[in-house]
Amino acid sequence: MNLKLISFFGPPGSGKGTVAKRCVRDFGFIMLSTGDLARKHIGEKTEIGKILDSYVSKGNLIPDDIITKMAIDWILGNISFGKTIILDGFPRTKGQADCLLNSFNTNDSFDGVDFSIISFELSEDEIVKRVSGRSVCSNKSCGEIYSDFVKPPVKSDICDLCGSELFRREDDREYVVRKRLRGFKETADDLLLFYDNSGVNLFRFKVPEGGL
Ligand code: AMP
Repeated sequence: MNLKLISFFGPPGSGKGTVAKRCVRDFGFIMLSTGDLARKHIGEKTEIGKILDSYVSKGNLIPDDIITKMAIDWILGNISFGKTIILDGFPRTKGQADCLLNSFNTNDSFDGVDFSIISFELSEDEIVKRVSGRSVCSNKSCGEIYSDFVKPPVKSDICDLCGSELFRREDDREYVVRKRLRGFKETADDLLLFYDNSGVNLFRFKVPEGGL
């Protein structure tokens, strides 16, 4: 099986979700956003959703064992011949990456997997500006992302593409964003070092300022 997995790694607001969605639309890739998966459970108020909410709403990372199991189960359920899968926001810690790389060796479904990482890099001020002006289409099958600064919707709070209402994520409030960024920094260096030492293919992408 010719499975290609690309992990998009970067701070909140670095544009990885937007780029991932374009790759799905334009290249027929499949994508897993662990943040969207968590929000789906939270929205549906499932048992696991209640547990996830206690982390996500405060801007804390979901524990490695919970998120890794959810992500690997999702990948195994979505492997499809010749398709590239983008992992948006997973792995996010060294523990998650270690567990994913281990499962490549222990699970036959991952035979011959080609795994690479794109690390999205930009300044903290730019991130806070982007995230605090962000709104998202509430229609899950659309999910278009808007920015008050560079891409406002034509009609306020309404999606240009499908006409659904836009919303602002709870965890996009500035103090939560700053907390998420601190959490990101604590784990990012460790994770990138782990990748360097594991010899996986890592590409560092300097994100241009003024985007989504
Ligand atoms: P995102 O949509 O990628 O910004 O993720 C939103 C929130 O979901 C994060 O702030 C975390 O609380 C949680 N989350 C998403 N992906 C992960 C992950 N790989 N590990 C831990 N928590 C995650």
